[in-house]
Amino acid sequence: MLKAVTRCLWSNPVAGRRKMSHHISPNLSGRVAIVTASTDGIGLAAAEALGQRGAHVVVSSRRQANVDKAVSLLRSKNIKVIGTTCNVGKAEDRDKLINLTIEQCGGVDILVSNAAVNPFFGNILESTEEVWDKILGVNVKASFLLTKQVVPHMEKRGGGSVVIVSSVAGYQPMQGLGPYSVSKTALLGLTKALAPDLAHSNIRINCVAPGIIKTRFSAALWENESMLEEFLKQTSIKRKPDSYVMLIS
Ligand code: NAP
Repeated sequence: MLKAVTRCLWSNPVAGRRKMSHHISPNLSGRVAIVTASTDGIGLAAAEALGQRGAHVVVSSRRQANVDKAVSLLRSKNIKVIGTTCNVGKAEDRDKLINLTIEQCGGVDILVSNAAVNPFFGNILESTEEVWDKILGVNVKASFLLTKQVVPHMEKRGGGSVVIVSSVAGYQPMQGLGPYSVSKTALLGLTKALAPDLAHSNIRINCVAPGIIKTRFSAALWENESMLEEFLKQTSIKRKPDSYVMLIS
């Protein structure tokens, strides 16, 4: 049985490639990677992972103090990094992020669109227009607008890669997190809608849908035993959430 699975992995080109990529990290030296919301949690882990593989990374989030902390942490690990404040919901901040990247790093090859907000928890029928505007604006619209903005720069480099951070909640809405879950479902659609047009410019776009990762953002889920149990009921392996620092290794 085990032999058959191994044979399948080696003979299946897609599975085989996945297996190899686990062992051979791509060399990203000379590449420039923008990761949004990258001063903590999954974004910081992604910035670190890209930097460890040689990419010049650009970190950002809303607060300058958080940016400064992330930049010095990554520099202490010998990662080439610059940082700026950027609330992805604000057009002028998105412009600043892209302009700084082009000026200081000379171009852009990778965008990880990771920022999301969730200002609402409760019965979806009690969510307001303001909540929907905020959630869709930051989680969905800003992901599209940032992608649109990096495309001409990636084209100049002959191609690139965009990674959109969705969530398992995008596949199965989580109780109490209706509007947020819908925004994450929209990102699955956005990825598919963009893929054919980005392909013309040799730009890949992928969407990742993490389960619960122990970060500040998800604290309400993993700190509450009954919420966590409810969530684990939907999973097959029933593994408890990982801390994001484990993502890096
Ligand atoms: P986190 O650890 O709480 O970090 C959030 C980061 O986002 C911080 O750096 C924060 O810094 C920044 N940020 C917040 N609002 C922002 C905005 N409007 N513009 C730019 N930056 C902003 O969060 P996380 O759990 O890693 O979440 C990251 C992504 O993963 C989100 O898209 C989330 O939906 C997704 N996700 C998380 C989980 C999970 O279980 N943790 C599961 C599935 C998907 P400032 O405060 O300085 O802005």
